Amino acid sequence: MRIHKNFINIQLFGIDYITCDECGVNFPDCGEFYCCENCYRSFCGECKEEAGLEFDTDEDGEPTRDVISCKYCRNEDFDDETLLEFALKKLNTTKEQLKEEIKVNE
Ligand SMILES: [Zn+2]
Ligand SMILES: [Zn+2]
Repeated sequence: MRIHKNFINIQLFGIDYITCDECGVNFPDCGEFYCCENCYRSFCGECKEEAGLEFDTDEDGEPTRDVISCKYCRNEDFDDETLLEFALKKLNTTKEQLKEEIKVNE
């Protein structure tokens, strides 16, 4: 098993704080956290699922702590505003029209 590069930091410099790229929380690097080796974003244990982390596997096919990709470097993450704009364009409608439709339907 490869030694994760962040573990080396702990031995050399003591405890550092890392900011989670998903939720923005600062957490000590001695706790559970993940670092994407593709885009170098860091994630706390809480955001493991949310960040869509893809883990490397060892010789036995067991997942390791090494993150090969996350939703950000796979371009899978878009904020709600971007999604809405895209959906509106696809539906060939506007926010105003949608609001009117919602009023009629409720
Ligand atoms: Zn987080
Ligand atoms: Zn990544």
